[in-house]
Amino acid sequence: MRDIQIGGLVSFTTIDYPGKLAAVIFLRGCPLRCAYCSNPHLLDIGDGEYDPGKVFEWLTSRVGKLEAIVFSGGEALMQGDALIEYMKRVKNLGFKIGLHTNGFYPDVLMRAAQTVDWIGLDYKATRDKYLELTGNAIAYDNMIRSLESWLQTGRDIEVRITCDPRFIDRAALHDIASDLHSRGVKNIAVQKYIPHFEDNAHGTTADQRNQFFDDEMRNTLNTMFESVVWRE
Ligand code: SF4
Repeated sequence: MRDIQIGGLVSFTTIDYPGKLAAVIFLRGCPLRCAYCSNPHLLDIGDGEYDPGKVFEWLTSRVGKLEAIVFSGGEALMQGDALIEYMKRVKNLGFKIGLHTNGFYPDVLMRAAQTVDWIGLDYKATRDKYLELTGNAIAYDNMIRSLESWLQTGRDIEVRITCDPRFIDRAALHDIASDLHSRGVKNIAVQKYIPHFEDNAHGTTADQRNQFFDDEMRNTLNTMFESVVWRE
C-alpha cells in the first residue's frame, strides 16, 4: 500500500476541532475542482512534501500537549485505506481524530467511522448548483450519502456551508438549513466566502458576500440548530 501523501501541516490550532487543541494534517488529492478552492496546490495527489514517518514521530512528541489531530485536504479520504491505517496509528497515541471532508467518498468514510471521532462536512450548495461549483456531476449525491451514513453512526458532525454568492443566495441557504434541520443535524457553520486569489473573485462584491450575515438570517438559523458558528 502506498503511504499517505501529505502536503501541509498546521502544528497548533484552536478552531479546527470543536473545543480541542489540535494540529491539522493536509492530505494531497481531491476529486473536485471547486471554483473557490483555496488549496489548488493540493488537488493532485502527486508526491507529498512531508515524510509520513517523520510527521508521526512529531505527533508522538505532541502527546499530552495536543488533544486532537485533524485530517484535511484536498480530500483526505481520496487516500483510502492508507489514510485509515495512519489515522488508527495516530488514534492509538491517544488523540481524538477529526476529519474535514467534502463527502465524496461515503464508502471510505464508513470504513473510517470507527476511527474518526468528529467530521466537518461541506454542504456547498443546493443540488442544482453543485456541478457548476465543483465540476463534478455526482458530488452532491455522494455528499448526501455521506451525511446520511454518518448521522446513522451517531458520531459528532458539523456541517459547513460556504456562502459564495455565485452559487448560493439567501433562499438557497434557507433551503439547505431546512434540509439539515429535517435530517436532525444539530451543529452547522455558516462561512463567508473570501476570495483567496484575484482570479476566483469573479467580481463578487463585499455586499454580496456579506448578505448572509444579517440579524434576520442569524435569528432564523440560530433557532433551528443547537449551534451555528458564523465564520465571517
Ligand atoms: S473540495 Fe475543497 S480541496 Fe477540493 S476542490 Fe473543493 S475546496 Fe478545493
